[in-house]
Amino acid sequence: MIVIAVANQKGGVGKTTTAINVGTALAATGLRVLLLDLDPQGNASTGLGIGHSQREFSTYDLLIGDTSLEEAAVATRIPRLDIVPATVDLSGAEIELIEFDARTHRLDRSVRSGGDRWDVVLIDCPPSLGLLTINAMVASHALLVPLQCEFFALEGLSQLLTTVERIRGRFNPGLSILGVVLTMYDRRNRLTDQVSDDVRAVLGRVVFDTVIPRNVRLSEAPSHGVPALIYDHRCAGSQAYIALAREVIGRMPSAAEAA
Ligand code: ADP
Ligand code: MG
Repeated sequence: MIVIAVANQKGGVGKTTTAINVGTALAATGLRVLLLDLDPQGNASTGLGIGHSQREFSTYDLLIGDTSLEEAAVATRIPRLDIVPATVDLSGAEIELIEFDARTHRLDRSVRSGGDRWDVVLIDCPPSLGLLTINAMVASHALLVPLQCEFFALEGLSQLLTTVERIRGRFNPGLSILGVVLTMYDRRNRLTDQVSDDVRAVLGRVVFDTVIPRNVRLSEAPSHGVPALIYDHRCAGSQAYIALAREVIGRMPSAAEAA
């Protein structure tokens, strides 16, 4: 089992869209995928059509209670794609976690209990570098970082990378960066090209070849409770996520060895 956190402390950069659609594309290749919705907003859960009545257990219970992954996971409409949904309780978890001695390792402990039921665990992180994201980084082999092509993109990234260094030094020496994916790419916008060139010049091969275009189908799909890959598998956004998932698979073995 390989654990990948989709993380960036900025909101609205495409974390949830990436987690849902990469998860769906990986499941389509035959891998058994579990998505952990670690954002109190619960967008990944809603985007996969998980109603509130299906949220008996949530990632809150993984962090604060003794609920196992197996108890908390619910099936989605996508074969081989399960989810542990988020509930609003999660917004209080950050404070409640402070009470625990092992406050940084609560999610790690739950994920380790998952055994062999899933091949890939994808964690959809909230837009902060607080204890929820730290729990995700401690539990993960690798990070998948969506980066929106905008002016301060690199500044935000350096803050993220500093946190990754700290997590490596203190808790999880094997944590690697699986890759950075440029999202909401708009070819007609010269700033996008400029930012993309800068990011590739600074970060090099860690940046995935695949870029995710700005695509209205990607933003429409969540309100239908299905991944874009199901809503319209032919749209440019879906095709980009299929290509990204292929690159993710190509990078996974080395990420697993590193951990
Ligand atoms: P995050 O999880 O980082 O906050 P989201 O994945 O929720 O970001 O994306 C933020 C908003 O932008 C959502 O409304 C989503 O539907 C939309 N969105 C995400 N990626 C794209 C894209 N490539 N093209 C167009 N809209 C997108
Ligand atoms: Mg999100």
